[in-house]
Amino acid sequence: MIILTLNCGSSSVKYSLWEMPGAKPLCQGIVERVGMGDSTLTHKSVSNTSKNQEVDCPDHEAAIDLIFDVITDSESGVVSDLSEIEVVAHRVVHGGEKYTHSVIIDEDVIGAIDEFAILAPLHNPNNLLGIRMAQKVMPSVPHTASWDTAFSAAYMPRHTSLYAIPYKFYAEYGIRRYGYQGLSHSYVAKRAARLLGRNRSEVNLISLHIGNGSTVTAVKKGRPYDQSLGFSTCGEGLVMGTRCGDLDPIVPLFMIQHANMTHQEVEDVLYRQSGVFGLSGGYIDRRDIISAASDGDTRAQLTLDVECYRLRKYIGAYAAALGGIDAVVFTAGVGENSPLHRQLACQDLDFLGIQLDRKVNNSAVGRQSEVDISTVDSKVKVFVIPTDEELVMVEDAAAIIEDRFDPDNFTYSFEQPGYVPSYLRF
Ligand code: AMP
Repeated sequence: MIILTLNCGSSSVKYSLWEMPGAKPLCQGIVERVGMGDSTLTHKSVSNTSKNQEVDCPDHEAAIDLIFDVITDSESGVVSDLSEIEVVAHRVVHGGEKYTHSVIIDEDVIGAIDEFAILAPLHNPNNLLGIRMAQKVMPSVPHTASWDTAFSAAYMPRHTSLYAIPYKFYAEYGIRRYGYQGLSHSYVAKRAARLLGRNRSEVNLISLHIGNGSTVTAVKKGRPYDQSLGFSTCGEGLVMGTRCGDLDPIVPLFMIQHANMTHQEVEDVLYRQSGVFGLSGGYIDRRDIISAASDGDTRAQLTLDVECYRLRKYIGAYAAALGGIDAVVFTAGVGENSPLHRQLACQDLDFLGIQLDRKVNNSAVGRQSEVDISTVDSKVKVFVIPTDEELVMVEDAAAIIEDRFDPDNFTYSFEQPGYVPSYLRF
């Protein structure tokens, strides 16, 4: 069975093709800067064909056309015709409380993605666009949705997910903490349990997904207990690429009342002009911030200090919330590649039993392997685990199609001994 994954973001579309059973990756890639000019297509296949080229890509429809072309191309392609694809697995950000595991997309699901767009305005509308376009080209195959909210929204208990505002706002409007990036947290939590040699239901973990979007999940006995992002993808938790994270809810009201800003302008500031971008005065890539800070740029240094203090604060808070932890996991672009962020996040946490091996930490860069960056004596293990959200989507999709998907008791291939991560197969 050949499965295509599509992840239709605001300015990029990611894709990958897999062969099941065996979860064998065939190719993966991304179209970036969709509709912004200077668009690029990056494509990699297991047969070692790679492409990195400028493309004309005025909108998401064009991006999906480019993807269909490259995967069926006689040189770079891995299928000769789209009809070889038997399932399309879509990543969708918000499924509310209604969708707490992957499902086949039908009219109800489409309606829910549309309904929950109010909770994820940067993501759900683009996810829906991708689904509609792929359904148009491949109308006769099943399409599945895997949700970023599912892992945490399904399991976070009431006392960690409710805000202390009048209860009717939860009951009538669904205003609660949902948690995001669940496909990634679910993958690394299961891998961490495996690396610890324990059953997933026995371990307490803190997983930090640090990238353009960033979240921390507290995992108690294998299930999400708390998550740094709450109601929206913006206003709680870590400092992100352009999103603010933790913010007093009065700040946006103050901006409207005293800075003469409209709701739209405030939303734009909080989602698109804040985070490390807003603090540093224009840098969005953490490599640029690290380099500017080491060249003496005080705003860049301050940005690093704010971001890493926030990481450390959440590790401490979640260690207490969980009543002790077995491991801390770093993942995503920054978590996998920045020894400095990991070092600052774990600084002075010896009292929690967290001790980093500086040399190993400094050498753990790039998606080469999973690394234990803690000292031999560290009571709490610290892992760098490259994430693989697509693999979770693909395994869910295959199991749904084959009618063997039991969301609460499903065992993934990456929990089995002998698993070789897909990034090592390219
Ligand atoms: P993601 O959203 O997971 O793709 O992460 C993207 C982010 O990873 C980029 O914005 C970079 O800031 C960051 N990143 C990638 N490589 C490095 C590196 N070597 N050091 C620090 N940050 C990095």
